[in-house]
Amino acid sequence: MPVPSGSAVSGCVFCAIAEGKIPARMVHEDEDFVAFRDLNPQAPTHVLIIPRRHIARMDELLPGDATLAGRLLVLAGEIARSLGLAQDGFRVVVNTGDDGGQTVHHLHLHVLGGRAFSWPPG
Ligand code: AMP
Ligand code: ZN
Repeated sequence: MPVPSGSAVSGCVFCAIAEGKIPARMVHEDEDFVAFRDLNPQAPTHVLIIPRRHIARMDELLPGDATLAGRLLVLAGEIARSLGLAQDGFRVVVNTGDDGGQTVHHLHLHVLGGRAFSWPPG
């Protein structure tokens, strides 16, 4: 179920980070998004970008969320550039559901860089 703007979901670690209730190494904060370093980095640079609003997974995005989703992608590019990843390249990942390997059920983009990634993914 979509969660109204402004309501954090209790027990959600990323809602807690967005609210400043648990610490994170912040890279970016604005009214609608927060970006922070992954606790268990899989690359020299590994940043997570989340909407402050609790959206559990990518397929819960609705047509009315199109601007938010687009801004999330624009922000990913800006953060990658600001962290010096643009020249050599980077990878953006959205794991979704069990087969997608999603472990935190609050929509997030992984921005990974600082090494080469293989394809297909594991
Ligand atoms: P996913 O498997 O796509 O759901 O990714 C969840 C990511 O969140 C993993 O890469 C975790 O290392 C990361 N993570 C979990 N808890 C925290 C936290 N408190 N601070 C930063 N990153 C976290
Ligand atoms: Zn949440």
